[in-house]
Amino acid sequence: TGYGTEPPLQRFLASCHQEFKSDNSGELADYIPELKRANPAHFGISLVTIDGHVYEVGDSAAPFTIQSVSKAFVFALALDLVGEARVASAIGVEPSGEAFNSIRLTNDNKPFNPMVNAGAIACSGLIHEVDGRAAFERIRDKLGQFAGRELDVDDAVHASETATGNRNRAIAWLLRNYLVLQDGVDAVLDIYFRQCAILVTARDLAVMAATLANRGVNPVTGVQVVTPHVVARTLSVMTSSGMYDYAGEWIYRVGMPAKSGVGGGIVAALPSQLGLGTFSPLLDGHFNSVRGLKVCEALSARFDLHMLNRS
Ligand code: GLN
Repeated sequence: TGYGTEPPLQRFLASCHQEFKSDNSGELADYIPELKRANPAHFGISLVTIDGHVYEVGDSAAPFTIQSVSKAFVFALALDLVGEARVASAIGVEPSGEAFNSIRLTNDNKPFNPMVNAGAIACSGLIHEVDGRAAFERIRDKLGQFAGRELDVDDAVHASETATGNRNRAIAWLLRNYLVLQDGVDAVLDIYFRQCAILVTARDLAVMAATLANRGVNPVTGVQVVTPHVVARTLSVMTSSGMYDYAGEWIYRVGMPAKSGVGGGIVAALPSQLGLGTFSPLLDGHFNSVRGLKVCEALSARFDLHMLNRS
């Protein structure tokens, strides 16, 4: 049958997929109308080790929009491009304890952290300060280096968010008021909406996560995408804030730096070990993927992956 000769990891991912695919709880994101068109049955898992082995199951090649998962990688790019001091002058690193789209800023009028919308819009602003009109191409190129292939944009999702994204517009104007954004609010928002509409697969997310796990070297292409220092900073904010107001529960239960998005993607990276990418568009009340969360919890428990339980 061949089943018994499969590596235990592949077998475990297949059994997770089998077990959790019948869970139809959660909802599709609908505040971006185009996201309602997602297929709720889609479910893909991919895991990439730092020596470049790829394990996949289900819809691991199905494209979906990266949404907030982009925030981790654009933050890494911002650190690389403008340096730690400039980033720190614009964006905090405290968990907000609030939903991803909260408009509240810190007492000194900065976004709480780069993993929520306000902080991510500020990050896109930093890249816009350096690159102007070329900022989006810089982002697309860098995310492509993380994924190991050129990434495209879903124009329909981009248009849909542009048409409905007034809450993010309000956040951006508030940031402009406090000079976190120094110019071009509309241009910065367009960069942010476009970066959220970049198309990825669960496999892409796993390679991107594995690049973080591998000190910034993409384990499939061998390219050094960012420095180990930038990786450590990025994994830090993913640990404290990557799952929004579920970040505390997440790090307690799963124990891996992670980032989710309303397209249904989750990335999780275990340093020096592996990257995981999951895709299932049904979301819970924190806007995290229901099945993705279950996969991460089960995998962490089965293989003892909690980062504070290293031997
Ligand atoms: N583009 C989405 C927004 O700004 C991203 C949010 C998310 O994935 N949590 O609302």
